[in-house]
Amino acid sequence: MQLPPAPAYPSVEIADSSERFPLHRIYCVGWNYAAHVREMGLTPEREPPIFFMKPLDAVVPSGGAVPYPPRTGNLHYEIELVVAIGAAGANIAAGNALDHVWGYGVGIDMTRRDLQAEAKKRGQPWETSKAFDHGAPLSALHPAGRIGHPSAGRIWLSVNGEVRQDGNLDQLIWSVPEILQHLSAYFELRPGDLIYTGTPAGVSAIERGDVLDGGVDGVATISVTIV
Ligand code: MN
Repeated sequence: MQLPPAPAYPSVEIADSSERFPLHRIYCVGWNYAAHVREMGLTPEREPPIFFMKPLDAVVPSGGAVPYPPRTGNLHYEIELVVAIGAAGANIAAGNALDHVWGYGVGIDMTRRDLQAEAKKRGQPWETSKAFDHGAPLSALHPAGRIGHPSAGRIWLSVNGEVRQDGNLDQLIWSVPEILQHLSAYFELRPGDLIYTGTPAGVSAIERGDVLDGGVDGVATISVTIV
């Protein structure tokens, strides 16, 4: 068998630019809005944030199609603010964490909820429930130099035009600077890292043909279709 060709390194669209943002890693934060923690059957407590990862090639650009994944009967959406890292750092202090942020986007943390429930019950890892193909839809990114660093603003998602998630960034249990402080204590953050920052309440099952529209006021919007 021949050596396979090197795959193209993934990158994502930058709003109003012909340049693209080259990706390094995708981190995600779990259980970061109290109302969502409650709907997951847990008690919101300010315990250290939990992190998991998704592969870079799971990104689906806004306007794209998300194939309904195999081995699940309970596919959920999770609308999330996404942070794009522009400057490396380890053991970052919350006070200067925003200096490491290049910009922001809006993503959907697609989740095989049935597999996640089984994994949680058995104390097993989350890869099959979170890190599957096409599991990380993402809007174009907007530089902080243009939109600032949002700490409040409506975050919402609708399914076929009906609003299902309707929260506010000011409800984050761990703020963006606090997330960067905790995450960078475990991993050196690098330019090109994305961080999906957690979802508000209102997650539910979707089916083929459903259209997901979402956004964060002052940041971006996203739309994908389940096929
Ligand atoms: Mn999530």
